[in-house]
Amino acid sequence: MKTGKPDIPEPQPDREGAILPEARARALVVSGAAPTEAEAQPQEDRVPPLPGRPDRLVGTVLRAQSGFFRVQTERGPVECTLRGRLKKERRNTDIVVIGDQVEISLVSPGRGAIEEVLPRRTRLARRAAGTRGAYKEDVLVANVDQVLLIFACDAPPFTPRMLDRYLVICEHSGLEALIVATKVDLVGMERAHALFAPYARIGYPVIYASTVSGLGIDQVRAVLDGKISVVTGKSGVGKSSLLNAVQPGLNLATGAVSAQLNKGRHTTTVAELIPLTTPGGGYVADTPGIREIGLWQLSPEDLDWCFRELRPYLGHCFFAGCTHVHEPDCAVRSAVAAGAISPERYESYVRLREER
Ligand code: GDP
Ligand code: ZN
Repeated sequence: MKTGKPDIPEPQPDREGAILPEARARALVVSGAAPTEAEAQPQEDRVPPLPGRPDRLVGTVLRAQSGFFRVQTERGPVECTLRGRLKKERRNTDIVVIGDQVEISLVSPGRGAIEEVLPRRTRLARRAAGTRGAYKEDVLVANVDQVLLIFACDAPPFTPRMLDRYLVICEHSGLEALIVATKVDLVGMERAHALFAPYARIGYPVIYASTVSGLGIDQVRAVLDGKISVVTGKSGVGKSSLLNAVQPGLNLATGAVSAQLNKGRHTTTVAELIPLTTPGGGYVADTPGIREIGLWQLSPEDLDWCFRELRPYLGHCFFAGCTHVHEPDCAVRSAVAAGAISPERYESYVRLREER
């Protein structure tokens, strides 16, 4: 038996590159010379610029506008510019967008420079026309965990075609989609179920909500907790009321911005992540973006696959290039006839196929 000092490892010296970013950030606070009167200041202001030190912090980009970025770090927000080197390295995609995880160095209290952009887990992007017929990826939000599709049961009336279109965009982008059915108080639960249960059956979570009765608010708060969520839905469905019920003051500027765009005014939209005060944190992305994503670039095979309930039948039609619209011995149409695929969803599928 050892009787000497307890078996606790000695703290490791602060070797560059051998320490996790979070640990580095903390090391920055505890290292350095004797404290001065700066000790009395808030933690954020206590860190002096340390040239040549691995004084990096990791953070999430909350706001991006004209080359300036607000980065949320564990020690508060830092206004950052971009290292010139990054502009050269990342030519074929947007350099830094909201939702990006970045490594920054502090240049003065509350000010910094983005040094690295960490790999994106997911992205909500649209393809923008580039030079000479090429396409450029226009990333709207990085590291999106889920998309909340807000649809009213009534006032405005439920539009399944539009919901199906959004679901195709989510499937194509590889993003989780959740449906929030608002204003349940206007139609009653039975009718609300009749409208949205077909979506639950094919695996999309549906939250039934009403800001009048309070139904579903806790559920919405719970699904937002700790995640980066894109929230979308047309004006009037109750987005603002819902988000305000989830967290007072939580509001999206998106509606106002799109209204201005429709009037033909050229307003620069500022994309933003709004922090949540839920226990696990999280963010709601304020971007009108998803509405502007076109589906024209989708091949017929892509579209088939984006209707998830079609997948078991794909490859089982008599004709190899079956469009599932008019051919005989079509496995998809048989499934519709047998009630295994919702006729409403099939209708959306046919319309999207014709649209492209
Ligand atoms: P947004 O345009 O999507 O942000 O929608 P708003 O939150 O501004 O709501 C549009 C209208 O619907 C307002 O008159 C709200 O009072 C009303 N509204 C919102 N949520 C509900 C609800 O759950 N039930 C009912 N009956 N009305 C609602
Ligand atoms: Zn077919």
